[in-house]
Amino acid sequence: MYKLVPSICSYCGTGCGVLFEVLDHRILGTLPLKTHPVNEGRLCLKGWSLHEYVESDMRLTGPYLRINGRLHQVTWERAIGFAARRLTEIVDRYGPDSVGVLASAKISNEENYLLQKFARAVVGTNNVDHCARL
Ligand code: SF4
Repeated sequence: MYKLVPSICSYCGTGCGVLFEVLDHRILGTLPLKTHPVNEGRLCLKGWSLHEYVESDMRLTGPYLRINGRLHQVTWERAIGFAARRLTEIVDRYGPDSVGVLASAKISNEENYLLQKFARAVVGTNNVDHCARL
């Protein structure tokens, strides 16, 4: 069954409205949403190709850990536990300014806020940056 599904582009924080062309539960294409107040029927190049990564074989769908020089897919619990343990060890040994947090234009304002709050209030560093500044 073919249908158009409204959504928001996830490539950057602008938040353009899109319509996904869906056929039998597979996303085939992306169209600009003419009635959306942000983009008013326009998309940049990234927005037009929004559907391509969803079905890509190269898409990462879970966490990986490098073990003995090779990447292995692991559970979220193991990956988060490893990251938390190593972050704690590094901060305990070298101090909070030995680490930094890089945020992303692909997450929401609220998630970016929480990330800088985590850096400042939990880790204790002001080393916070964002990919949109690069
Ligand atoms: S279409 Fe382009 S400008 Fe709009 S949200 Fe997507 S990446 Fe950003």
